[in-house]
Amino acid sequence: MEAKTQTKTESKNLQVVTDVVCPFCGTLCDDLKIIKDGNTIVDTMNACVIGNEKFKSAQDGHRIMTPLERDDNSAEFTPVSYDYAIEKAAQILAKAKRPLFYGWSSTSCEAQEVGNELAELCGGVTDNTASVCHGPSVLAIQTVGAPCCTLGEVKNRADLIIYWGCNPVHAHPRHMSRYSIYPRGFFTERGFKDRTTIVVDPRPTDTAKQADVYVPVEQGKDYELLDALRTALRGEKIEQEVVGGIPREKIVELGELCKSKKFGLLFFGMGVTQTTGKHRNIDIAISFVADMNKYTKFNLIAMRGHYNVSGSGQVMSWQSGFPFAMDFSRGYARYNPGETAANDILARGECDAAFVIASDPGAHFPVSSMKYYARIPTVCIDPHYTPTTGVSSIVMPSTIVGVEEEGTAYRMDNVPIRCRKVADAPEGILSDHEILERLYHRVKELKGEAGGQH
Ligand code: SF4
Repeated sequence: MEAKTQTKTESKNLQVVTDVVCPFCGTLCDDLKIIKDGNTIVDTMNACVIGNEKFKSAQDGHRIMTPLERDDNSAEFTPVSYDYAIEKAAQILAKAKRPLFYGWSSTSCEAQEVGNELAELCGGVTDNTASVCHGPSVLAIQTVGAPCCTLGEVKNRADLIIYWGCNPVHAHPRHMSRYSIYPRGFFTERGFKDRTTIVVDPRPTDTAKQADVYVPVEQGKDYELLDALRTALRGEKIEQEVVGGIPREKIVELGELCKSKKFGLLFFGMGVTQTTGKHRNIDIAISFVADMNKYTKFNLIAMRGHYNVSGSGQVMSWQSGFPFAMDFSRGYARYNPGETAANDILARGECDAAFVIASDPGAHFPVSSMKYYARIPTVCIDPHYTPTTGVSSIVMPSTIVGVEEEGTAYRMDNVPIRCRKVADAPEGILSDHEILERLYHRVKELKGEAGGQH
């Protein structure tokens, strides 16, 4: 398979690997070319600056090269073997009454599947990074459903793009050029000339600068503005002269503009999900999209951040019915975000051990939560040194999915894509999947020895 898609360039040592998937953001661009000299990645083609860095940084020397054990309550680590680290980690998880498993968003669905089974085996809580980003979107979509389509349909059909509370120029740099604004599609032959772009954001972001219409909504007033927009769509009078900082006439104009298009898309980000209203903002955004479908075709897609956070939601859902914050401590899957999400559990000091993989809560969670994490027995799996590895009891390095390992990931529109392997990992480094498999089997043995209930 690989031989088919690798061609030699003029230099006899250089190879170009084509059709590579970028394992960084939820856009999962699948048209990258990676230029290799032997096993060394020397350059990338088609990747944005972030994607390029993902491949280059894989080999830049900041990798963890051996499992580590933190010396008691200090910042010092001792190198250990995988056998030792896996045994220690298994002991920690098997002994714990309610361990927390968190992360999953930057690894493969295959690893996620085993990890969730391990969480169930341990009677723990398993949560992914959606709980601090698009969790409210998932809640709202589960509650009322959502009209959705693929990014391919956006490219070929959409003549109206709304970016609400997101800034793809910086967070998803190729989203606009590959799918939404600039590409020429089947029914959008003239590319951006066939499309109208609206950006709704309190700040005049770099994405807003490229929009045909910029709507500077007041901070935290997304719900009110969407409500007024729905009122305008129905042809009813908006009572207030200004809603969310936008004059009434402008809102009516926006509604008419949306109605005049053939295929509209509402892309939304954390500017909507993590501001006042949270999942209610998404409820009303979905209602707005449903209203729009009385006049034209309209869909919405969440701008997912980590490249496989969508996959983690998919895997958890098909395994146990819930997309994040899943609690197995009662012997069956339970889900109550606000109570069973990772930060809730850490903030209340409710877990007696924690396992972090493919994410970095040390860089994103409140300090008080991480102080608690640093006090309990913990296991962290990551290819690189991070703030989380620095306060974990056992650290295990892993290969990088999509660079050194194949694996399945789900794009932000929930299309599964197979990530490729383009280079060999440093010698002796195990994959997330293999570490999890070994942990699962050892914990199962330990639970059996202890006469555990699973
Ligand atoms: S837009 Fe996202 S997936 Fe595409 S190359 Fe950039 S970081 Fe990678």
